[in-house]
Amino acid sequence: MPLTSYAELLQDARRGRYAVGAFNIFALEFLPAVLQAARENQAPVLLQINPIHFHLADLPAYLRYVKEQIARTATPVGLNLDHGKNYEVIACGIRDGFPSVMFDGSKLPYEENLSQTRKVAELCKTCGITLEAELGTLNDEGLELTEETRDRLFTDPDTAAEFIEATGVDALAVAIGNAHGFYKGTPQLDFDRLAAIAAKTPVPLVLHGGSGISDADFKKAISLGISKINIYTEMSAAAANCVRDLTKAQEKPWDYPTLLARARESVKEVVAHKIKVFGSCGKA
Ligand SMILES: [Zn+2]
Repeated sequence: MPLTSYAELLQDARRGRYAVGAFNIFALEFLPAVLQAARENQAPVLLQINPIHFHLADLPAYLRYVKEQIARTATPVGLNLDHGKNYEVIACGIRDGFPSVMFDGSKLPYEENLSQTRKVAELCKTCGITLEAELGTLNDEGLELTEETRDRLFTDPDTAAEFIEATGVDALAVAIGNAHGFYKGTPQLDFDRLAAIAAKTPVPLVLHGGSGISDADFKKAISLGISKINIYTEMSAAAANCVRDLTKAQEKPWDYPTLLARARESVKEVVAHKIKVFGSCGKA
């Protein structure tokens, strides 16, 4: 079916009280892994590409290929630029074919994040592009969570409402104790804060840093208003571990495409599991 818009995918998820899995692709074998898992589980999904991986492909040509594969998939699939950190990256991404983008000004001081997000929002509106923004800072440094760090890093519910009103973004990524990469210790999500943000904001909420969060915490976060969850680290680790284990177990070199096909299977398993936990199974 034709590409499904990010906005439509998240609105359906919000209404249906489930979350759309947003899975990063960058290598050829991740794309079929996600699409196959989506088909087998009749699930809507979002494909994402982070600019840190743009150098791995001829981006406009790769996006055309991705869209062609989406068109051949019978379940709703969206395509999103993940973590565009400045106006130029977003503008180039739109030019190269992304129908939705995430602008990440979360490391900037609040006023700067607000004004840059506003500028990106104007561009997106002109081009008919869905925009996700981020407010608050993910705990990527693995800082100990004290009252001070929570207040400094986590998304404030009132500021979130003000930010959405002032920028007109379509979705908001929140910081509630989530982090990118592998977590140091067990993630401690601030569910009270999430509930307060959801009560004060009119747009779907997004949880980044999904790899490492327990199934029970995902379900609770979805019940409190999360409509999109980003996954990458677990997929990457599954592929890398699969290749490591296989090459360790055999002395003679593997046939490389066979190795990639096995890695693809391990990525598909991760994606299929997340789809089930997110409640998006059968929602296509
Ligand atoms: Zn992220």
